[in-house]
Amino acid sequence: MICLTFDVEERFHSHLTAGDGQRQWSAGDSIARLIDLLEEHGRAATFFIVGELAEHYPELIRRIGDAGFEIASHSHSHLKMDAANRRVCEADITRSKHVLEDITGRAVTGYRAPSWTAKLTDDWLWDHLVSLGFQYDSSLFPFRTNLYGSFANPVAPSRLRPSLHEIPPTVGTLGPLRLPYGGGFYLRLLPMWLTRRLLRRDLSRGRTPIVYVHPWELDVQPSRPIESSRFNRFVGNYNADQTWDRLVELVHDYPSRTMNALCHQLG
Ligand SMILES: [Zn+2]
Repeated sequence: MICLTFDVEERFHSHLTAGDGQRQWSAGDSIARLIDLLEEHGRAATFFIVGELAEHYPELIRRIGDAGFEIASHSHSHLKMDAANRRVCEADITRSKHVLEDITGRAVTGYRAPSWTAKLTDDWLWDHLVSLGFQYDSSLFPFRTNLYGSFANPVAPSRLRPSLHEIPPTVGTLGPLRLPYGGGFYLRLLPMWLTRRLLRRDLSRGRTPIVYVHPWELDVQPSRPIESSRFNRFVGNYNADQTWDRLVELVHDYPSRTMNALCHQLG
């Protein structure tokens, strides 16, 4: 089984955009399509949701919970964990948990930091997640890019605290080499034959690949090339017209479970 996860945010949250003044709320249609797709195939999934987006689309977010999908936190305002002081970040996480639990009536036990900005050494963050009753984190990208991640981050699930698991996004390994696949930009970048081969290999090794997609990657309306640089436009839009078909292929072909279920299996 794989874990299907969605980082539910607007394009303006993505840190690829120019910033203020362009807060267009448009993810609703893509979120509804995602719910329909998963229900049609009877697949489980985890939705990491930005709290302020839940406040904007409360009915839709309630529908995600009522349909039996896992509701998890992707912060309240998509604040980078390394861009503000610790107290502000803690308050943002606390607020997201309360907002999501109030709207859905379901316990939130998973957290994923905006744009993978958490670091293995962020002890304050792990302690804060534990104090709020989180059971797992999925923020430590085990690959280094100019935007995020570190090669020091573990590839396999591990424990950050006795009661807090780290379930990192998937990177394939080839000897000492690491190759992210199956999520976001990488799902769009790699050809599907390679994604499938890496999936098969990890599954045969008993690993659980973590697929992640953003609603804005499914929104291919050409109306908003609002990324702030040529590089960000490439990362944000490359092969965007194929994201939906690739996701459908994965949903169709691979049984899935929630991150929370995987977390419980880890013990
Ligand atoms: Zn995000």
